[in-house]
Amino acid sequence: MSTQAAYDSKIEGNIIFTKVDAAINWMRKNSLWPMPMGLACCAIELMATGASRYDISRFGAEVMRFSPRQSDVMIVAGTVTYKMALAVKRIWDQMPEPKWCIAMGACASSGGMYRSYAVLQGIDQLIPVDVYISGCPPRPEALIEGLLRLQRKIDTEKSLSEQKGELTAALA
Ligand code: SF4
Repeated sequence: MSTQAAYDSKIEGNIIFTKVDAAINWMRKNSLWPMPMGLACCAIELMATGASRYDISRFGAEVMRFSPRQSDVMIVAGTVTYKMALAVKRIWDQMPEPKWCIAMGACASSGGMYRSYAVLQGIDQLIPVDVYISGCPPRPEALIEGLLRLQRKIDTEKSLSEQKGELTAALA
């Protein structure tokens, strides 16, 4: 969104104008709490992204939560075997709306090199994915770029009128 806030110099004092959607989106995108769904080697790069060198807290997403009830964005990092797939889906279902999903790496996005009877060919077969990140594994910079893409996507959401699922029902 190009204009999130405006300042009118003709009015005395510190007054800014904005829209409710823009204000909500601004708060949401800068305080994403990730659910780190580390399933295989990509999770190592996810951990590196949270460590001091890459410091994901610069983008407001350092509060990794291991409880789905406290998470906004699930980062699926690794190979999704059928054995784990339903557990991932259950955790996703336990996350409150609004929520987003990042498929980190080739395995989470498409099954990667594992075209096998044991591996789900992409987590998007079970849950909606907002951002795909290529690579095997993606470097921390790529994950950060994916996070910024998600932030841009959240910026365009109609938070009040088109909110997903439960929030819409609660407001109705
Ligand atoms: S994409 Fe590569 S690094 Fe990531 S989980 Fe699959 S095999 Fe491992």
